[in-house]
Amino acid sequence: MSELGPRLRPTLDGIPTYKPGKPASADSFKLSSNENPYPPLPGVLEAAVAAAGTFNRYPDMAVSGLTAELAQRFGVPAEHIATGTGSVGVAQSLILSAAGEGDEVIFAWRSFEAYPIITQVAGATPVPVPLTADEAHDLDAMLAAITDRTRLIFVCNPNNPTGAAIHREELVRFLDAVPSDVLVVLDEAYREFIRDEQVPDGIELYRDRPNVCVLRTFSKAYGLAGLRVGFAVAHEPVATALRKTAVPFGVSQLAQDAAVASLRAEDALLERVEALVQERERVSAGLTAQGWTVVDSQANFVWLRLGERTMEFAEACGRAGVVVRPFPGEGVRVSIGEVAGNDIFLATAETFRKEF
Ligand SMILES: *Cc1c(COP(=O)(O)O)cnc(C)c1O
Repeated sequence: MSELGPRLRPTLDGIPTYKPGKPASADSFKLSSNENPYPPLPGVLEAAVAAAGTFNRYPDMAVSGLTAELAQRFGVPAEHIATGTGSVGVAQSLILSAAGEGDEVIFAWRSFEAYPIITQVAGATPVPVPLTADEAHDLDAMLAAITDRTRLIFVCNPNNPTGAAIHREELVRFLDAVPSDVLVVLDEAYREFIRDEQVPDGIELYRDRPNVCVLRTFSKAYGLAGLRVGFAVAHEPVATALRKTAVPFGVSQLAQDAAVASLRAEDALLERVEALVQERERVSAGLTAQGWTVVDSQANFVWLRLGERTMEFAEACGRAGVVVRPFPGEGVRVSIGEVAGNDIFLATAETFRKEF
């Protein structure tokens, strides 16, 4: 008997495993995963606890309560909403719906690290397009990268990890130029943190464009990262495909009920978001005053391009008590968290800058 193991798909060999943000030790701040630093609101926690009493049952497979709530909140037909296990889950369903072996998926790079992974899991070919010198999507280069094998394009607005956002005029010009049979996914995981009025709301752009799909999540502004719930807003054929390719019963009843409670507590949540935006502005201004070149971040994190000194900087932050997210050879992304954590980061950046 030979000792061959089970034959797995060769496409998996080239796939990096997803690297989660480093966990923080008890005495340090975790600024590595763009999480909301605030604990759940009391009403949201109560809804989740109540749902926990029924977890011997499967969740509502149609996710009807949350879907109805979202449809009303965004003024879209319920049929245009598809939920999933985080927006990463929905993004994976989008690729499974649109791209297979030999098909191409375009995205900016560096951008959200799940894009190349989920593309390759589906057997499709990732086509990364470098960011511009000012850390933004190069939409012209992305248009130029379209071939007759292109099936899907991710546009991450604002971009993770750089925070740069695309303005309305530029995005509309891009959407108008993309062939109508290519699906464009506007990943708006940080939508609630945008304050630049020139950044469009993807939900307005999707309405008269059947090839545009918007991705949103409850993980960031709404503070439900641990419950895994996100959604897409898309026209029927796409939304229907998403329901076919999603893991059945993927969104737990806890997650569904907590998401509904979050939407109902939106005013309180958006106050917290506003406080985080104020902190982002304070941290960005502090970095600029120290002499760093800082992207105008429209998300809940800031980006420092440190090149070869990235790991050194991340280690200095770690020693000082904040865990940040390094991308070796490129830069660090630092989530906006508790004021005390942000202060430690700023102090470390200042010391490092002087030696830079
Ligand atoms: C955090 C993030 C998501 C959301 O992930 P979830 O699966 O919803 O937790 C999606 N897209 C981008 C760009 C992100 O940064």
